[in-house]
Amino acid sequence: MNCIHCAQRAIWLHPALCGTHYTKYFEQKVTDTITEHELLTKNQRVCVAVSGGKDSLTILHILHKNNHDVTGLLVDEGIAGYREHTITEAQRFCEENNIPLRIVSFKEFTGQALDDMLTNKDLRACTVCGTFRRHLLNKYAAGFDVVATGHNADDEAQAILMNILRAHATLIARAGPKTASGTNAFVQRIKPLYFCTEKEIMTYAIIQGFASDWNECPNAKTSYRARVRDVLNAYEQQHPGAKQRVLQHHLSLDFPQEHTLTSACMKCGAACTGDTCASCRMLVVIQ
Ligand code: SF4
Ligand code: ZN
Repeated sequence: MNCIHCAQRAIWLHPALCGTHYTKYFEQKVTDTITEHELLTKNQRVCVAVSGGKDSLTILHILHKNNHDVTGLLVDEGIAGYREHTITEAQRFCEENNIPLRIVSFKEFTGQALDDMLTNKDLRACTVCGTFRRHLLNKYAAGFDVVATGHNADDEAQAILMNILRAHATLIARAGPKTASGTNAFVQRIKPLYFCTEKEIMTYAIIQGFASDWNECPNAKTSYRARVRDVLNAYEQQHPGAKQRVLQHHLSLDFPQEHTLTSACMKCGAACTGDTCASCRMLVVIQ
């Protein structure tokens, strides 16, 4: 089958597009999300949360191409056999494209790598990981106008369902293409890939020739998210469009943004709900 715009062979179906026209289609989709949801203006300084995987490199690539002022921020959790590969990928990409990249680590912040925290302790890897990662992102993104993350349509549909199944109302408010208040306490979070599926991003990344390492975090397969992902993928196969409907439904609810975290942690000064922030509470648990 040929591309609907030219005589080249199509590499994407529905609509049938060649590599060149798929690239245009995908980049326009991301740009439209930015415009329609007012995620970003030209003069804003963007901190991109980089993992070195296909999602974050795609965002860096498109924002940089569109002349936005971008800096990468990579949090090294300390996951042996996994993170070092994506760090190398991120460093290579940023060097080639002349994009500043800052790397911060759990080890320098807590004294331990994530792998060490999990030894002999009954801790859920993703809970510990998410708590410190959010904390470090907020800490090091101070001074930027927005933080862009690589969350895609699949991630978001999973997160919405996970939070409904666990009745986490405050976490549901974190879903959406634009979250956090953008007040003094939190830098505005944006998700330019909100409406793009895993498959669309993977196709774009392959065409662009980056993110060659498709390894998954070794902790991912036992996570609650992985179970929800598998169920949702199976449902999507039988009922195409289900994930997009979850996102559209969430957007139609017009959820209030996360405005509730207003006090300062008595230990570190980070914004939080009570006396002590989640990161300082977790620091006690991992000792
Ligand atoms: Fe962290 Fe869990 Fe993601 Fe691995 S799967 S990077 S442990 S949140
Ligand atoms: Zn704190």
